[in-house]
Amino acid sequence: MLVSIVVPCYNEEKSIKLFYNEIHNVLKTLEGIEYECIFVNDGSKDTTENEMRELSESLTNVRFISFSRNFGKEAAMLAGIEAARGDAVVLMDVDLQDPPGLLPQMIEDWLIGGYDVVYTRRSTRSGEPPLRSWFAGQFYKLINKMSDVHIVDGARDYRLMDRKAVDSFLRLRERNRFAKGLFMWGGYKSKCIEFENVERAVGSTSWSFWKLFHYAIDGIVSFTISPLRWATYFGLLTAITSFFYMFYVIFKKLMFGNPVSGYASIVTILLFFGGIQLIFLGIIGEYIGRIFIEVKGRPNYIIKEESSIPSKNRKTMVKK
Ligand code: UDP
Ligand code: MG
Repeated sequence: MLVSIVVPCYNEEKSIKLFYNEIHNVLKTLEGIEYECIFVNDGSKDTTENEMRELSESLTNVRFISFSRNFGKEAAMLAGIEAARGDAVVLMDVDLQDPPGLLPQMIEDWLIGGYDVVYTRRSTRSGEPPLRSWFAGQFYKLINKMSDVHIVDGARDYRLMDRKAVDSFLRLRERNRFAKGLFMWGGYKSKCIEFENVERAVGSTSWSFWKLFHYAIDGIVSFTISPLRWATYFGLLTAITSFFYMFYVIFKKLMFGNPVSGYASIVTILLFFGGIQLIFLGIIGEYIGRIFIEVKGRPNYIIKEESSIPSKNRKTMVKK
């Protein structure tokens, strides 16, 4: 059985070899399992690419793909998964926050347990700013309420997928890729493994708060259209309310004449609805923007350089 390990990397020069050694130590103990390691350089500005090239030149089970610029982790994962030839594909971060020690368990669940997908989840978010954890928690609650794809809170991208699940993932050709949801979209028999949060081995996270915030919006907009429905419901509600209010105003006018007053209420209503309309315009804009990007049909990434595939024949792959 061949397992492909796909590793997106962005400015991770110090982690590459460390990572390889770690997974090699774990995987060499497994009998009947061969593996290939596919590093994807997501337009790093440091020497990440050289590190990958060196490794792939000295080891036949290591390959690399290098992007022409930074296309984001989602694109890097996609490129790696497309290049993978394994019977199963494992996605891992290079910073060792995804413990390689879980690999034997995942592979066992796949081969013996018969699971098509084995994914992982952090049971704690220790070492993360509390505000960020809170927002993350709210995000998962929200997206699970709104969309029919269930995304587990704290689920990592660290997962093993059987070839079947990989192929169905690759059939989703959209540009706005929210992988966490796309992986779940396919269904399949899946199992969750929990682990304690691990701090990064070296380097620092490339995710700022705003990047995560945009990621959350991406997730919601690409998995559900319920925000658009809110607009409809809200519009209906205000239309009905104002209809009754109209009768009240007419009635008041007929009974008591029309002394000029009510400036405060008019201004408040005006501003309130101005704001609401802008918010809903923004929401519609989010969807239109995505349609625009989708319609252009640009590729998800551009490959600048790629290590040659050593051999199509899996038998010749050796573990060093
Ligand atoms: N990464 C990437 N492209 C990016 C940002 C990150 O390929 O634009 C990679 C990064 O090298 C790492 C993984 O994605 O292997 C997770 O990134 P990070 O550790 O910064 O995120 P966190 O673990 O804090 O969620
Ligand atoms: Mg990390």
